[in-house]
Amino acid sequence: MTTDKYADLSAKADRHLWGHFARHGEGITPPIITRGEGVHIWDSTGKRYIDGLSGLFTCQVGHGREELAEAAAKQAKTLEFFPLWSYATEPAIELATRLAGYAPGDLNRVFFTTGGGEAVESAWKLAKQYFKLIGKPGKFKVISRAIAYHGTPQGALAITGLPTFKIPFEPITPGGFRVPNTNWYRAPEGHNTDIKEFGQWAANRIAEAIEFEGADSVAAVFLEPVQNAGGCFPPPPGYFERVREICDEHDVLLVSDETICAFGRIGSMFACNDFGYVPDIITTAKGMSSGYSPIGAMIASDRLFEPFNDGVTAYAHGYTFGGHPVSSAVALANLDIFEREGLNNHVKTTAPAFRATLERLLDLPIVGDVRGEGFFYGIELVKDKATKEILDDELSEWLLRSFLSVELFEAGLYCRADDRGDSVIQLGTAANQRSGGVRRDRADPAWGSDPGMGSAANPRRRLGRRQALVGAPARPPSG
Ligand code: PMP
Repeated sequence: MTTDKYADLSAKADRHLWGHFARHGEGITPPIITRGEGVHIWDSTGKRYIDGLSGLFTCQVGHGREELAEAAAKQAKTLEFFPLWSYATEPAIELATRLAGYAPGDLNRVFFTTGGGEAVESAWKLAKQYFKLIGKPGKFKVISRAIAYHGTPQGALAITGLPTFKIPFEPITPGGFRVPNTNWYRAPEGHNTDIKEFGQWAANRIAEAIEFEGADSVAAVFLEPVQNAGGCFPPPPGYFERVREICDEHDVLLVSDETICAFGRIGSMFACNDFGYVPDIITTAKGMSSGYSPIGAMIASDRLFEPFNDGVTAYAHGYTFGGHPVSSAVALANLDIFEREGLNNHVKTTAPAFRATLERLLDLPIVGDVRGEGFFYGIELVKDKATKEILDDELSEWLLRSFLSVELFEAGLYCRADDRGDSVIQLGTAANQRSGGVRRDRADPAWGSDPGMGSAANPRRRLGRRQALVGAPARPPSG
């Protein structure tokens, strides 16, 4: 009966569901995830997995929290929806106040969205309108880092630094410029011996880009505290200090894109606090509600809000569902859990054990680097450890997509095999994970050691998974 139900669902998925960044075609059927509890998820065959990615760096307090479901139900019964278009709702006001309290400096003004890409889009639009209002209308360009992902709306896509995601949608919104990222493992010759010097070098590339484009044309720099795409690049010591100086010198806004890094991913509510810098704008989403209901936000400084505070000028931008009352209520309840359970402190104190566990993988001949911060790690796979030779496209395609994605999932671990930059496996567990790391103990039922369970018994399904379990879309032939 259950088997029939899920066979039917799979057929419907194959016929009607369009996966995000997903391949489709003969023999590809997505795994159906049916339930979650704590750091575990279950698929339609009843097999349990460790959710090593907290959904998509989202489910910070773990799955199956009844109080968040209850918070949603309570708000839906009271006021299921009302827009923030010249009106306000109680949960949106409370949440804005709470977020402003967590944000550093004078970042006191919260503009809600439904996700991260919309927050990034909103930040760029705000930067443009702000500079027009203060008499610097030429400032519209944005700078971001190579291989960084900042979302898919057309504006955010121009900030995203991944050529393969942009090529299908050219011409791209004009004004996006790229600088090097902080990949210390592959720091360029001449800057690969002293990490602090490398950080200064990388930050100074931002100054160079601003000067090259002309400071009177550049509005903002978008940076993640720890860059996700490419496999978790932390900032070298002193990097953000120098970036802040550069932005101040050129009157360019510093946007901290914390879609992933906020709410316990690194160990604070906002990761700029972890790295000691005060941006002009924070963009965030995901962990704000731990994914129990969608919500995102752009948090701007008082200075940026000032020209909109004259009783006449409106920021000409909005989303029907931005700051949805149910999502806001859920986010507030989620933040209550964070406070009550001390989750940020838990991340900070257990992160060294998590890292140490992952660093044991460096014993393997194909593991070149383990990097990251908090509960956010990338494991880079290489062809030759001594020379750091990368996996070529063909090998990466086979190892990441056809082998590791499938084998790790079969073994009971949901994580991400990512080939957007060099080849990496990524982990980003819930902030309340208690073990301090993902156990490698195969006897743990979480690893799917029960031979009777799972899709391994079904070769067709297994083949389907081989092709469906991807962390990134296919690279175009040009690479
Ligand atoms: N910015 C960053 C840094 C992200 O990691 C993401 C998504 N992973 C986004 C923006 C886009 O967020 P969303 O998918 O919610 O639009």
